[in-house]
Amino acid sequence: MAAGRTYRERVLVLDKTKLRETDLIYTLLARDGRQIRAVGKGARKPGSRLAARCEVGCTVDMLIARGRSLDVVAEATLVCAPFGAAPELDVLSAGAAIVDVARACCFEDAEDPFVFPITERALAVLGGSDGALDGAHLDLLVAAYVFKLLAHLGYYPDFSACVLCGDADVSYFSATAGGLVCASCASSVAGAEEVDATLVGWFRALMSLRFDDLAGANIDAPTAALLLAFSHAWAATHLDVRLRALEFLLGV
Ligand SMILES: [Zn+2]
Repeated sequence: MAAGRTYRERVLVLDKTKLRETDLIYTLLARDGRQIRAVGKGARKPGSRLAARCEVGCTVDMLIARGRSLDVVAEATLVCAPFGAAPELDVLSAGAAIVDVARACCFEDAEDPFVFPITERALAVLGGSDGALDGAHLDLLVAAYVFKLLAHLGYYPDFSACVLCGDADVSYFSATAGGLVCASCASSVAGAEEVDATLVGWFRALMSLRFDDLAGANIDAPTAALLLAFSHAWAATHLDVRLRALEFLLGV
């Protein structure tokens, strides 16, 4: 079968790593959810036009040439840079956590049309079209992204009632148990963490509200930081990978 020498893809840039003196390897999320790795020739040279169009978090239209081992970026057109020209460091850190989780959730041969749009949307809201979000809302959006994406992948957290006995009176969170648990079940779950009614409400809001609604929600920084920590526990437990950018955001 004669495969085309080149192909076009709209991609999200998830990561870039050094390859040789002047090249980068880009890890990309295609619109159908597959992960693509492609070499950016000369992308490490100062003033590289390719590098300027392929920052992490950006949506890019690419023409990609099939290579023997790795594919090579032949052309790149920037479609969207969600964080603008001069992003704040905390926005970049939150964006890095999102693409880090996305990278752990996409694979070379597995199509999943949900991953691209939810990731692109989360990054767009994070970048904020009307002014920068504060740290609490960045944390909240990352936590919501993690729970929503993992729920889609089959790691659905049960925030409605105790995951072990069905009791509606929940007051602990456990990633290993699968969500919220009641006080009596929590005594038999190692590492279950006590949560108050406000947090229980926020867990439910993370799943039910859209990113735009969460960006405008009234939340304080300590509550958002707790939700971010719980989302990290959820991802680390169920994906079983190190999520370094998320850990960095948490300050762990
Ligand atoms: Zn229970």
